[in-house]
Amino acid sequence: MIRGMSVAADSASLPVVLSFEEARHLVEQHASQLSSGQPETLDLLAASGRILAQEVLADRDFPPFNRATRDGYAVRAADLAALPARLEVIGEIKAGDWPDPASSSVRHGQAIAIMTGAPLPAEADAVVMVEHTAFVNSPVNSALAGMPANTLSNTSSKTVEMRRSVSAGENFVPRGAEARVGQILLGRGRRLDHAAIAIAASTGNHRVQVFRKPRVAVLSTGDEVVEIATVPGPAQIRNSNSYSLAAQIQEAGGEAVRLAIAPDEPVRLRALIEEGLQCDLLLLTGGVSMGKYDLVEQVLTELAAEFYFTGAEIQPGRPVVFGSCAAPAQHKTYFFGLPGNPVSTMVTFELLARPILEGLAGMPPQPLVFLRAQLKSEIKTKTGLKRFLPAILSGEFENAEVELARWQGSGDIAALARTNCYVVIPPDRERIEAGEWVPLLLARNRN
Ligand code: AMP
Ligand code: MG
Repeated sequence: MIRGMSVAADSASLPVVLSFEEARHLVEQHASQLSSGQPETLDLLAASGRILAQEVLADRDFPPFNRATRDGYAVRAADLAALPARLEVIGEIKAGDWPDPASSSVRHGQAIAIMTGAPLPAEADAVVMVEHTAFVNSPVNSALAGMPANTLSNTSSKTVEMRRSVSAGENFVPRGAEARVGQILLGRGRRLDHAAIAIAASTGNHRVQVFRKPRVAVLSTGDEVVEIATVPGPAQIRNSNSYSLAAQIQEAGGEAVRLAIAPDEPVRLRALIEEGLQCDLLLLTGGVSMGKYDLVEQVLTELAAEFYFTGAEIQPGRPVVFGSCAAPAQHKTYFFGLPGNPVSTMVTFELLARPILEGLAGMPPQPLVFLRAQLKSEIKTKTGLKRFLPAILSGEFENAEVELARWQGSGDIAALARTNCYVVIPPDRERIEAGEWVPLLLARNRN
């Protein structure tokens, strides 16, 4: 059961603080009900990373013929029952050849040299790998006269000795075993990663229909925040959040619309929120904590917003807010109020905002994938919040090791940039000893 599914606008001041799992489930529920934008048609490579608005079907059987998967000899498996078996080589089929069944059938006692990717000749039911064979000198076989040239490597007959048996069906993929003509290979909502691109390419889809990217407004708030090109005054800081968020939005498949910085003053803040609500999603940063000048929730309440939660039991990011607002855009626009501390902004985007963006982009919300690594040194912490602490994953191959980064809290982007993952600590743990396997979340695209 999810606590506090929604809070009416007039009771928006009521805090609804959910556990991490409740908050995530709630966001995923909303995300799965979203409809995506209009489709557009792009050249295949221009659509790399985009979300398919069409299905991709097999335009023929895959493979389109019985495809050899080894270099060797096409044989009848029954001929190799007693070893070593000597077979007469009557020709050769290389990839791209189309063997004529009339002249290139493998009869009892015969073999045809075959290359990986070539069609299996008629009457053959297996391929013996060339590594398990050896040539035997033998006189020219006059029976070969009249074989089509394209199925023969030369005009002299050879005898080959088979040193291992095969079972029928070995070392080739039967026609249609991977997919039948007409079968759906890629569904709508599938991201065009390199594997999907291979399928689109192999089915002749040189242009594909994908969904337009959702437009995501980014609104940073704070009297101390200034544009990055200006020289900050002694108490000012540059607006890094708008840029880190825009990069995360782009990486997740959205188009970032960076708005002007909102001061901690309700009139201008309201105007900018109204501007942001024209987009498909609005992400605010800052102004959602308990401070006297944290005005985001107040202004959204004035705009008759519906709040689904006003906090989550996580660190970093506890004050995170999720809701939607109908006015003034005349359509329901989701928003997140992300805490302004730069690390909190980044983490709450990944943990909670991303599924809504994915839904708007046309794909089902993607699950969070947790890995495990062995903790290098003990962690002591406080109970009550689920923690996602910046950490460094190291170790070779399967021997994953992880240790927490030394950091100064959620504002420390210098420390964060030295990390590559977040160790996940459950709310009930005060101490985790070195050597324990702990869950972690990889930071996307960070080395
Ligand atoms: P707030 O959530 O507004 O209380 O801000 C928390 C901390 O994050 C403060 O130290 C802010 O100065 C900092 N901060 C807020 N907005 C930004 C921003 N856009 N870029 C970088 N830091 C910010
Ligand atoms: Mg602030």
